[in-house]
Amino acid sequence: MLHNKKDLIGKTFGRLKVIEETDRRMDGGSVVWKCQCRCGNIIYVSSKRLINNITLSCGCLKKERQQYSIEKLHSKQFIDGTNIDLISKKEPNSNNKSGVRGVHWSNSKKTWIATLTFQKKLVLNKSFSSKKEAIQARRIAEEYYYGSFLKNRNRGKDIESNKN
Ligand SMILES: [Zn+2]
Repeated sequence: MLHNKKDLIGKTFGRLKVIEETDRRMDGGSVVWKCQCRCGNIIYVSSKRLINNITLSCGCLKKERQQYSIEKLHSKQFIDGTNIDLISKKEPNSNNKSGVRGVHWSNSKKTWIATLTFQKKLVLNKSFSSKKEAIQARRIAEEYYYGSFLKNRNRGKDIESNKN
């Protein structure tokens, strides 16, 4: 028995549980252990890397963290770019001549304009000879852009809790 060798069998480091010692040694003499990751993968890690918390998983932890930060970034942009309160409300703006949100009369062009802003982008900006057509265009665009967004958002539960 080597007394200066740390027995790591059964110990857990991050997601790794040390199963058994292998015959392999690192250049510095550090023992290489067979470890099982919580996700099921088997990997071989040296004492040094385990004890110093250099290796904490088979790699799945790092992947998940990266995935998480990407998702967080996406959802932040998604929500920042869309005014949830505005699109959740059905009443039109008070300063809106048509009585319908996103549809207004252009005096200079002598047409009805349908507009829709989604995530800070103007996704609809069209002129129509009739108010009815403009309203319809706006409705279609609303459904197209906001429909799936609101559905997803509602699943995220806190849509009503902040305001009112
Ligand atoms: Zn893993």
